[in-house]
Amino acid sequence: MRPYCKLPELNFLPLLDPPEKTHITPAYCFAFKERRILLICENDGCRLPTMEEFKSLGAGALREQYMGEYGNTSCFVMEVDGVALNQESVRFEELRKLYDVLGEQLAALAGRAIQLLEWDMRTAFCGRCGSGTFRRQQERAKECPGCGTLFFPKISPAVIVLIEKENEALLARSPGFPSGLYGLIAGFVEPGESVEEAVVREVMEEVGVSIRDLEYFGSQPWPYPDSLMIGFTAKYAGGEIRMDAKEIEDARWFRHHEIPAVPSTSSISGQLITYFIERHAHPE
Ligand SMILES: [Zn+2]
Repeated sequence: MRPYCKLPELNFLPLLDPPEKTHITPAYCFAFKERRILLICENDGCRLPTMEEFKSLGAGALREQYMGEYGNTSCFVMEVDGVALNQESVRFEELRKLYDVLGEQLAALAGRAIQLLEWDMRTAFCGRCGSGTFRRQQERAKECPGCGTLFFPKISPAVIVLIEKENEALLARSPGFPSGLYGLIAGFVEPGESVEEAVVREVMEEVGVSIRDLEYFGSQPWPYPDSLMIGFTAKYAGGEIRMDAKEIEDARWFRHHEIPAVPSTSSISGQLITYFIERHAHPE
């Protein structure tokens, strides 16, 4: 569970250019092909390649971007050229599976990497006048030479909320969820809306209940493809569950010992549900 309101330690410094180093150290290479990341898998498990290892594979890079420094290690993201990689040790893995393979911090960096790569891919041309864009020197942005429009990496804020009614929590499942899995009410923030307004609206739209005592819980980058999940807790205030059939297949109140299959604690959804279970399983 995410420690509630504890400030995280900074272990990654985003930079536009690599710093001068007194001696060359290996750099991490986050190499993607169609949103899957290249890993080197040998007997002792899977890991990220270094830049040297990536180059030794003989694959080209369609684009490359420096991300910043992870501790003292430079990090680069690249799009792998369509060349077939025949080495047995090379595997392309889904982002969602990385948490168990690389651990929390490197998995989070991979999420950061794919978002920077996709920003680079999607902003090659200006959406307003069609001119080819160029990278700005002073910030991570592209600029259009034709009309001056700036293109920053896109982040789409989304909200997610744990709603409690005495000793029960409201869990719901969408039609697209794996069989038996339940989660929390979540949705995107609309233009012009505060995150608090988005929570109240999403809950009303999806399950028809009103809430009170909204409290911030924490946030998590969610690179599928470019969200920032902003988590809250809330108390039930009134209304009967009335499901939006398009978004919700089932929604119910569950007591802490009746919780069905839910997302793992690598996601903020799982952290919020664990937070509920632990408080009710071990009341003070
Ligand atoms: Zn333009």
